[in-house]
Amino acid sequence: MEEKKILSAEEMLEKIFYYMNCLVSERDFSSAILLLTDLGRTLVNAERASFWYRDVKNKQYWTLAASDTGKIVVLEGTGIVGASIEKNETILINEPYQDERFNPQVDKDTGYVTKSILCMPVINTYGEVIGAYQAINKLGEKESGKFDEQDVKRLALAAGYSGKLLETYLLRLQNQTDQLTGLQNRKGLYDYYEKIVLTTLRSQAVSMIMCDIDFFKKVNDQYGHNAGDEVLKMVSGLMKQQVQDSGEVFRWGGEEFIILLPQMNDIQAAEIAEKIRCSIKETECKYEDAIIQVTMSFGVKQLEEKVTPDANIKAADEKLYLAKTSGRDKVVS
Ligand code: GH3
Ligand code: MG
Ligand code: MG
Repeated sequence: MEEKKILSAEEMLEKIFYYMNCLVSERDFSSAILLLTDLGRTLVNAERASFWYRDVKNKQYWTLAASDTGKIVVLEGTGIVGASIEKNETILINEPYQDERFNPQVDKDTGYVTKSILCMPVINTYGEVIGAYQAINKLGEKESGKFDEQDVKRLALAAGYSGKLLETYLLRLQNQTDQLTGLQNRKGLYDYYEKIVLTTLRSQAVSMIMCDIDFFKKVNDQYGHNAGDEVLKMVSGLMKQQVQDSGEVFRWGGEEFIILLPQMNDIQAAEIAEKIRCSIKETECKYEDAIIQVTMSFGVKQLEEKVTPDANIKAADEKLYLAKTSGRDKVVS
């Protein structure tokens, strides 16, 4: 662990260049955020620093990076981070125990003593608050130090840069996500293939399940397009539930999905496909007054290392075609 000492102006400049150089070559988002968090901590001579993501969907904030501790999740609106994010303002507190916004319980539980806090919102290009940056305990010479206006300016450098990085990352995620089902889309699939599948294939098996809802056109015709959308969401949820952390589910297009399963051969993948087939067949989708039930057909293929992604997809599609032409509601591997 790096020593946390007070830096001279020259040392600080050197640090900035050091971190910026690392950042330019860092391609992994988590590592880059960690670097920026540490830069912020260094710039204001703080003991701890954390970078918080505003998860609007789940009404909570969680740390994307935090020095000296693991991931922390707090409810929307709580604590100093909550106040900073919701009011879009920088909060500087040098006597936290006198401040009603501060919750001393965490210190009581952990034995940590919070002496000073500097927290600022992280905003995107549109001025929306997408997170917060928090520095804790200014390191002082003798007694505990206090954060001041210079620290606000310095932390803003790291917070501003983090905002841009987070925004780019979120845009990329959005670009790879299907709006209706929340699954990753085709772009996400090719990205995953390049990052995870190709690496895994060097030493282990990877399998693909390609699947398609049976007679889905009839669902739309009978119950309407909105009901069809509900079925797509339900089916997506069931697939994710079965796959969990053993792989990733993608919406390939329309009512067609692809599941990639690293570290699984075709026998194991076929078992997963069978579980999904059963859970979909057994689950009713309620939409307004209607109760809709669908089945699904599956093609399973263990991937070849030496061929292109599209060739592997084509091979899985051929298995799916066999499932469709031999009666539907089945798994062909
Ligand atoms: P098969 O068993 O051969 O797969 O028959 P199918 O009716 O499922 O296949 P077909 O390709 O004839 O029809 C697919 C239908 O899926 C047609 C299209 O309108 C519908 N669809 C595609 N995307 C969406 C969507 O996002 N929402 C809704 N509601 N329907 C969609
Ligand atoms: Mg279909
Ligand atoms: Mg289809």
